[in-house]
Amino acid sequence: MTESQNPETIVLHAGYRSDETTNAVAVPIYQTTSYQFDSTEHASNLFGLKEFGNIYTRIMNPTNDVLEKRIAALEGGVASLALGSGQAASLFAIQNICHAGDNFVSSTDLYGGTWNLFSNTLSTMGIEVRYVDPADPEGFRNATDERTRCYYAETLPNPKLNVFPIKEVADIGRELGVPLIMDNTACPILCRPFDHGAAIIVYSTTKYIGGHGTSIGGLIVDGGNFDWEAQGDRFPMLNQPDPSYHGAVWTEAVKPLGPIAYIIKARVTLLRDIGAPMSPFNAFQFIQGLETLPLRMERHCENAAAVAQYLSSHDKVDHVIFPSMQSGELKRRADAYLKGGYGALVGFELKGGLEAGRKFIDALKLFYHVANIGDARSLAIHPASTTHSQLTPEDQLATGVSDSYVRLSIGIEHIDDIVADLSQALEAA
Ligand code: PLP
Repeated sequence: MTESQNPETIVLHAGYRSDETTNAVAVPIYQTTSYQFDSTEHASNLFGLKEFGNIYTRIMNPTNDVLEKRIAALEGGVASLALGSGQAASLFAIQNICHAGDNFVSSTDLYGGTWNLFSNTLSTMGIEVRYVDPADPEGFRNATDERTRCYYAETLPNPKLNVFPIKEVADIGRELGVPLIMDNTACPILCRPFDHGAAIIVYSTTKYIGGHGTSIGGLIVDGGNFDWEAQGDRFPMLNQPDPSYHGAVWTEAVKPLGPIAYIIKARVTLLRDIGAPMSPFNAFQFIQGLETLPLRMERHCENAAAVAQYLSSHDKVDHVIFPSMQSGELKRRADAYLKGGYGALVGFELKGGLEAGRKFIDALKLFYHVANIGDARSLAIHPASTTHSQLTPEDQLATGVSDSYVRLSIGIEHIDDIVADLSQALEAA
């Protein structure tokens, strides 16, 4: 694998050639909890981080390691960490640098589960979230103070599908010494947030990376492009002694291995203490999914564009939400940050409102009615009564969910069959 390889090649080759003991070409599932030490010296070197190697699968695993290396290569990052879910990845990404009394600034355009995690669970830990409407990137600057540890946003957030101004906010953050964390779940391959200045990427691998709706997982990628040491007192958890690891100063301790302080700390402290590792079996599933991800994204995007077009000319449809159909600054952002397609999420509002939305969903035959996105199959949901139902009506509206909004996650079936199902369900609506 070389730096210059293309995504289609990286997803098949990065981080693994064949198994050292069996020559197996497919990545083996190392379904083991622990790993025998060669000697007491070897064991203490591993625990003391003098040597890298396997200790216990809560903290590292060789199958997960291939997935981690492959996605880090795909994103142009330095290293990554596989976790048990996308939610665990979002939590760890923040908690790794935010302690009680600290705050972070987040875009309002978020997945409902992330909104809940930030607004309710993190607040019980004394970590304050400050929401900012990404329409104006300067809002991030205005919400920043000396206890602000990071910015957080989704590249292609649903339901609004307003692409986030990555470079604009990353630039503000770099000026103020604050890293930008991007949840890129909805548009792997289409967007590489590190190319636009993001410092950390979060994935729910459950979605497009897995691609087949079989496994829950998450991943954090470290861009290795943020200077934690240069920010004075902003990151004491990385550049001052860590009492949970014999006083290690992470930016110093791992310097010979590269700019991986952030991701190593997440692994050897948070993952060690909290758990939430990805299972090796699920890592294997994600490796299978990753191999065809570029091909699937192409078809997902092609089908979604055709569906958006079809819906926009249907007389029962009031309004279609799809990045290529936006105008002005929103369209500029979609074009600047998404390459090769506008993603596979399509939103729309029916003229008949809530009741028509329900009838539409109930009439679908090919589409699955599920709380998921990014499956190879086409999916549909009514967010106001499901994924966003735990939000207050005001918060629902702030995230872009109206009563009549329907979200489609377009799969890779034949486009004629997708449109036929939509057509008969719209008849019934
Ligand atoms: N981020 C986004 C954008 C999501 O859509 C989801 C789940 O729907 C998550 C994070 C959470 O991922 P998981 O369900 O794997 O915990």
